[in-house]
Amino acid sequence: MNLTNRPVLVCGAGGFIGGHLVRHLLEQGATRVRAVDVKPFEDWCQLAAGAENIVLDLQERQACFRAAKGMQVVFQLAADMGGMGFIENNKALCMLSVLANTHMLLASRDSGVERFFYSSSACVYNGEKQVRPDAVALKEEDAYPALPEDGYGWEKLFSERMCRHFEEDFALQCRVARFHNVYGPLGTFEGGREKAPAAICRKVVEAKRTGRHEIEIWGSGNQTRSFMYIDDCIHGIQAICESEIREPINLGSSELVTINQLVDIVEEIAGVKLTRTYNLKAPKGVNGRNSDNTKIKTYLGWEPSIRLRDGMAKTYEWIESQMLRRVTA
Ligand code: NAD
Repeated sequence: MNLTNRPVLVCGAGGFIGGHLVRHLLEQGATRVRAVDVKPFEDWCQLAAGAENIVLDLQERQACFRAAKGMQVVFQLAADMGGMGFIENNKALCMLSVLANTHMLLASRDSGVERFFYSSSACVYNGEKQVRPDAVALKEEDAYPALPEDGYGWEKLFSERMCRHFEEDFALQCRVARFHNVYGPLGTFEGGREKAPAAICRKVVEAKRTGRHEIEIWGSGNQTRSFMYIDDCIHGIQAICESEIREPINLGSSELVTINQLVDIVEEIAGVKLTRTYNLKAPKGVNGRNSDNTKIKTYLGWEPSIRLRDGMAKTYEWIESQMLRRVTA
């Protein structure tokens, strides 16, 4: 399937990944891209002039039908979410994203949509397989028996299964990717919904700017993760959506680092050394998580591979420019 010659809807287009996806589709030559988000335009991470931009609350059934009308491909990225600080303290809000997923699936089925892409998450994986920092990378089958992240992860796992059954029972072609920590320019870096890479960049910029050479790290700093640069994520979304992969698949980097190593990288980029304190009471998520990319390599002959050091340099530069612009304004 070729995406660019079809009318495409991006739900959650005002968000970090949705905004990059809209821009990418337009750059690829897509002529009809509808971009929908609940936020007012001034809060969108980026607003593409070439898209049909609409503000709609996709938890509402009617709004989903309006959004899906005339569309052949739907990217369902809209979700009430954020980093660990947000998802641990807002489980009900995270679960309410099931309304947008349910209504978008129904509207897609009834509006003749050909293909539905759903952005799931590594938070669907069984927590018992993530207790050690030297985590064995998660394979797709490790989502079962089900013991996902409470709230956010349960909703993602349930919605994945809805996609599966809409395909089996209603012939709506669904593609499901499990994203592992995505980062890059134009993402949220403050306000409570930001994730570790952006939060660390912000703290390092702030420390450098104020001369207070300290940084607070959530947890022991020994917890491990992999982080995928936004360009890899967008490339993977398109490839998975256009493919015949009919089961949920990991979309993540397999370059595992501790949070302390992530801080080392940002310090080196910024040219500072900070005194670290560890907040053991702060939300920190599982002890270890990595993406097993056997399946994506088998299906697509590709895996996300932009080096963390390279992606973080671009991310740091963007966050620093945003923060310094504000100070000098
Ligand atoms: P984001 O918060 O930047 O974007 C999500 C967007 O959805 C927001 O702009 C939000 O306003 C919008 N939205 C929320 N509720 C809506 C509603 N009712 N109607 C319309 N729009 C609504 O998040 P993101 O990082 O761009 O993530 C995109 C998708 O990828 C989400 O589904 C998320 O769960 C998933 N995901 C992201 C990551 C990551 O590391 N960023 C990891 C795993 C999964």
